[in-house]
This record gives sequence, structure tokens and C-alpha cells, in this order.
Amino acid sequence: MDWEARVASLPTTSGVYLFKSRRGAVLYVGKAQNLRSRVRQYVSGGDGRYSIPALMARAVDVDVLVTRNVKDALLLENELIKRHKPVFNVRLRDDKQYLGIRLDPSEQWPRLTQVRKLRQDKAQYFGPYTSSIALKDALSDLRRIFPLRSCSQGVFRDYQRRGRPCIEYEMKRCVAPCCDRVEQEAYSELVRGTVLFLKGKSEQLVNELRERMQRAAEAEEFEEAGRLRNRITAVERTVERQQIVGEHAVDRDVFALARRGGEVGVQVLNVREGRVMGAEDYGFSDVKLDDGDVMMSFLGQYYASEGRVAPGELLTSIGVEDKEVLEAWLAERGGRKVAIRTPQRGKLRELVGLASANAELALARRIDARDSVEAALEEIRDKCGLAALPRRIECYDVSNLQGTLAVASRVVFEDGLPAKNDYRRYRIKDAMGGDDYDCLREVLRRRLRKVDSEPLPDLLMVDGGRGQLGVITAALADAELTVETLAIAKERDEESASPRVRRGGGLKAERLFRPGRANPIMLSPSSKGLLMLQRVRDESHRFAIEFQRHLRSKLTMTSILEELPGIGPSKRRSLLKHLGSLKAVREAEIEHLVAVPGISANDAAVLHQFFRATAGERPRAGNPPSQKSSDPPAGSSNEQEPPN
Ligand code: SF4
Repeated sequence: MDWEARVASLPTTSGVYLFKSRRGAVLYVGKAQNLRSRVRQYVSGGDGRYSIPALMARAVDVDVLVTRNVKDALLLENELIKRHKPVFNVRLRDDKQYLGIRLDPSEQWPRLTQVRKLRQDKAQYFGPYTSSIALKDALSDLRRIFPLRSCSQGVFRDYQRRGRPCIEYEMKRCVAPCCDRVEQEAYSELVRGTVLFLKGKSEQLVNELRERMQRAAEAEEFEEAGRLRNRITAVERTVERQQIVGEHAVDRDVFALARRGGEVGVQVLNVREGRVMGAEDYGFSDVKLDDGDVMMSFLGQYYASEGRVAPGELLTSIGVEDKEVLEAWLAERGGRKVAIRTPQRGKLRELVGLASANAELALARRIDARDSVEAALEEIRDKCGLAALPRRIECYDVSNLQGTLAVASRVVFEDGLPAKNDYRRYRIKDAMGGDDYDCLREVLRRRLRKVDSEPLPDLLMVDGGRGQLGVITAALADAELTVETLAIAKERDEESASPRVRRGGGLKAERLFRPGRANPIMLSPSSKGLLMLQRVRDESHRFAIEFQRHLRSKLTMTSILEELPGIGPSKRRSLLKHLGSLKAVREAEIEHLVAVPGISANDAAVLHQFFRATAGERPRAGNPPSQKSSDPPAGSSNEQEPPN
């Protein structure tokens, strides 16, 4: 590439540039006020940033996209980073789902709901929360202080019809608008208080509550005054739990960066009215950018995320390049002025120091955890004879309920962590529900068909034994694909008599099956590699069962009858005719079922078990639902050779 000529051909306007590799992959995306002079900095040996020589050693071309102004370039840069995932950019994983609280003031009796998505509607959204635990804690605090209704419209109407409130009222967590136990005006006051609290305006809220308490006391409404006093105390106690980090009741987000070579951590503290209301840490590996570029890129992507609005002030531990551009962009998005500062001394420097200390801690934790993941992956590779580290593992599990409601799950782990965006649930369509092998075969066929859009993992794993492993191997051979495979199964009763295996509280050992090996591989129960494989297997089991429960919960009586194992239309008619109703069929004991013409003893046993399982019992090994248990009941095994 004649870089000089290429640079000379670039426009001098604002826009985005994309450095590309020989294969056309986007290596780096950046934005510039003046594209030509920006790209020239790279071509002429860089501006001192250590990432530039490495980038230019691989880049063979640069594309540019012109924008109206540099703010648009910032937005486009974020989009392109998301789309191309360039190796030289820092990329915020977008699998952190939005977690927030929704309140729709247009409802007559507004309520708070937990949401995972922002909708473009007239409701107010608060968040995002850093975890579902933080969100639940916030909701629980709120319900205690501001007892708004928590029920759906349907439940509300139901209790309205009955004329008595639900248990929430007894527990003082709802003022029961369903039964007119609260005036509209008083309820609206609760809504207003909730909004102030959620916005972090606790000082204003307490002042308002004090004024109202005063007025109530003057009017000799002592009960109301007492209620307001309790509410003030509850607000103050809740707020007390949040750490104070500033003298002034100012809203700011604080960003600090910690680095060890290519490992980078960014800590974010969300300070509202001088109190830390949220903290998040983000980690990036193999980072090639300088700290300033990382911070700039991080800020752009952080506030480009759904539901995030910058407060009036951002504090950063290191200077931010193109600060003014970012400030203008954030102000435009949030509709208010935003200042970015890198304090050098005083209280604000201390606040940044707090974030930095947390960033260092989180980074050290992550490096330790990563080292331990590496050790586990190495152990799996070495003990199982894999060619490479199984960084990406896909695991499948099949589950059915007495031959019905057959489902399967796929979970994916990357570097020892669940990649939940890649999880899949399968409703078995063609295979016989009671046949694990058939179900697994169907699922693998469906999965392997998508190999172009969903590349194969480093290791394909299944909950089961030699039989299941045989199914995977055959499915891969049919699809003419090659990938490492493994099956994991608990040792059977007759095999686990050895005291060596029984130590550790009688836990059964796990057996790992690999193609071409006659004997299973046994790892020590405390081995890191085994613990990781068990975690992957247990997660796929949990995910399959969760899906099946979900399907069961949606079954109506009529659809249950249609799902009945081995019961065709004439037996169904006979059951209804002789037992009188669907409810009676469901509740019948075996002797009643077997007395129905056309129903065999086996039908009756299967029906009886099926109805017990769908009555909401928690499934246990050996009982229905008869998902392939990791502890198969006596006389059965999940490791039979697959039927031909
Ligand atoms: S008391 Fe009434 S309004 Fe409150 S949660 Fe229960 S049903 Fe809903």
C-alpha cells in the first residue's frame, strides 16, 4: 500500500476511519475531526502511542466514512466497534442486560415493575442496576417505604371483585387501592415520593415529608403525622447505608482505570447527591490501546448503552483525548451540560482514588480467577488429550417428562464463564420424546445445520455416557465436521463402592468419556478441570429443567390431556367418560385409572406419575420428570449404546 498516496486522497473533514488487514478484517476503528491529518499520524510512525506500530504492521488499507461533525463520528465509531469487534479497540461486552425499574404514571394506580428492556413509551425508567440483586434490594426498600401496589392488572381486578386486599396489605407492603383503602391523592403522593427516591433526591424528599408531617401535626392528624415520621426514618436509614463520598450533594460518575500489561480494568462509581449509588467494574484482556484511548473509547461506549444518561460531571483517573467532543455529545444526548474533569488534588482526587483502589482490586481478582481458569482448561486439555485449550465449550442436555414435553438445552462457556447470549433451548419436534438418543440426535442435527452462523466450539460436550458420545460422533460424521467431544456421567452405584471414591461425603465420582478410549477418564474430585466440567454440565441440566418447567406451567388441562404419554383419542374419551372431568382424571389414584375401560396397568402407572410431576412437584432423580438423570435409577443407565 502506498500510504502517502492513500493519505493524500483522504478528505479533511470529520469522520470515522477503519484500518483493515490483508483479509479485509477491521483491525481498528477511530474517529477524527480531520480524517487526513489523523490517519497521517498513524502512517508517519505514530504519535508516540505504543499500539500504533503493532497496528500498522498488520494494516494494509484504511477506509473512511465522512460525518456531518465529530459528534456524529463518535456515535458511528461506537456502532462500528460493536459491529466489527476490531482487535485493536476496547469493546464493552453488550451482554450486560439492562436492568431497571419501570413506573407508568399514566396508570390510575401506578406500580413498580422490574424490566430488562427499555421501551419507547410514556413510562419512567430508573436504572440501570448493576445486578438483579441490587435491583431486588432497591425494590424491597421501596416497597417498605412507599407501599405501592405490586400486582398485575388481572390480580388487581380479581381482588377488587373479591372486595378484600391480598397478603401484601397485611404485610404493610401495599396500601390496597384495589379495595379503596387509600385515596387517590395519598397514593399519588406515594408515587411522587418513589420517583424522588429513585432519582436519588433524598434530601428534597425528606424535606417535603417533614413539611407534610408538620402540617399533619398542626391539623391534629396524628396518625398521618406518625406515618410520615416513620417514612422519613425509613428513607434516612436506607440512605445511610449508602456511602457518602463527597461534601456536596452532586451527581457524578467516576471512572478509574487499572492496568497490568494487556489486562485492563475500569471501575465506575455512580455518585448521586454525594452518595455512591452503584459500582460496576469492567475487564478487558489483550488490550493494545494506550490508557487515554481506552478511557475515551470506554466512555463513548458506556453512555451509548441503552438507558444511560451522563450526570452533570464525570471524573476520570486519566485525561481524556477529545474531551470537548465527548462533552458536547453527552450534553446533546442527555439534554444538559456535562463536564469531564481529571482532578489532581483535593476531595475529588480522593474520590477518583477510591475508584482507582477498587479498579486495582477488581483487576487483581480477575487475574487470579483467570489464572485459575487457565489451570482448569490446561488440566482438561492434558487429561482428556485435547489438541488445544477448550476455551469455548458447548454442552447439551436432554430432558423429558414420561416421554412427553421433551426438551433439550445448550449452554456455552467461554474461558470458564457462561456466555448466556449463546444459550439455546430446543423443543423436540421429530424425535420420540422418551428416547434420549433420538432427541439428542435431533438437536445436534438442528445445531450443526447452523455451523456457518454459529461456528463450532473447541469442545462439544454432553451430559451422558458412551451412548450419548456415540450420538455426537455420528452426528458430526454425518455433517462432515470435526470437533473435540466429551461426555460426562456420574459413576453408577455398582461402580462407586470403592472407599476412595466414597470419601468426601459419599459423592459419586464422575466419568469422562472420549472417542477412541476404552476406559473412562477419572479426575480427582477436587480437580479444577473436573469442577469446571461439572459446572458446565450442571448449568445445562438446570437450563433444560427450567425450560421444561416453563412449558409445564403453560399447560392447560386440555393441553395436558393431549400430551399424555401413550393416550390416544379413544382412551382420552374413555377417561373423561368414566371419571367425569379433567380434574378427576388428574386426581385419580392408580386403582381408579386402571378401572377405566381401555386403560392398562401400565397406562395407569404412567398417567399417575405424569400427573404427580405436572402438579408442580420438584423433579428428583429416579422420579418423573424422567429427564436423563445424572444419577440413573437402578436398572437404567444413561450410557447405553445408542440404538441402531
Ligand atoms: S393489596 Fe390489592 S392492590 Fe395491593 S398488591 Fe394486593 S391486590 Fe394489589
